[in-house]
Amino acid sequence: MFKFIKRIFSKSSTPNESNYMVDIGSTEKICPYCSVSLTKFPGRKTKCKACENYIYVRTRPADMQRILVKEDELVRVEELWAIKNGTYEDFLYKRKKYDHEKELLRVKLNRDPTDIDIQLSLLQKELPVYSENGDWGLYRNAKMHIAKLLFKNKKYEAALKEYLEVQFIDLNGPNNALRINGAPSKALPPFSKDSAMIAPGVVYEIERTIKKLNRDIESIKDEFISCSEVLRKELKLPLSARAAWEKLRKHCEW
Ligand SMILES: [Zn+2]
Repeated sequence: MFKFIKRIFSKSSTPNESNYMVDIGSTEKICPYCSVSLTKFPGRKTKCKACENYIYVRTRPADMQRILVKEDELVRVEELWAIKNGTYEDFLYKRKKYDHEKELLRVKLNRDPTDIDIQLSLLQKELPVYSENGDWGLYRNAKMHIAKLLFKNKKYEAALKEYLEVQFIDLNGPNNALRINGAPSKALPPFSKDSAMIAPGVVYEIERTIKKLNRDIESIKDEFISCSEVLRKELKLPLSARAAWEKLRKHCEW
């Protein structure tokens, strides 16, 4: 399916290099919405004090200048980068998938979906594909992405559950399927001790979410063990939930 869609796009003309030489954004320290003068050139996403719109900071592919852009110009900047990097077909494919999901969600939710709604929905659909293919590293990464989006959306309970599950998967040592000439090989097991890890980034996110929820460690332990047991059965993971908790507890001194 992916190849088929890619083929359709490859028939359309891919813009050549000169197409990204587009003047977009402003290099001046002025708000791109209301043109008010800013005290300094922002280093990252900032809210304009005058009009309260979010100003975004990007690098312009044409001349590598730092520019200020409006929210609705972000996709255009992404597009220009894709043209410059030779990834325009991929960009179009992802864009089309995104827009399609947006339409599906609009009907389902009976409202305009947010960017986070769309990203979450797309990621949820990726999970069964990764598990079917035995790509447990990608599966784990998608779950981590889901957790971060839920946190961003202030859904802290749901985010915590995802982070704890990512931690449990990590302690089981997830591997991506090994393919030899495109065919899956059984040389690498789906989970192995060698790949097991406690990533500082995941621990940091778990602790940050616990603080937001004001939860104590005993209740976290119960939640970790119950959601890990479910996941263990579902994904046929080698490590028991209790053994995983002991490893985590020792590492973090909780
Ligand atoms: Zn403004």
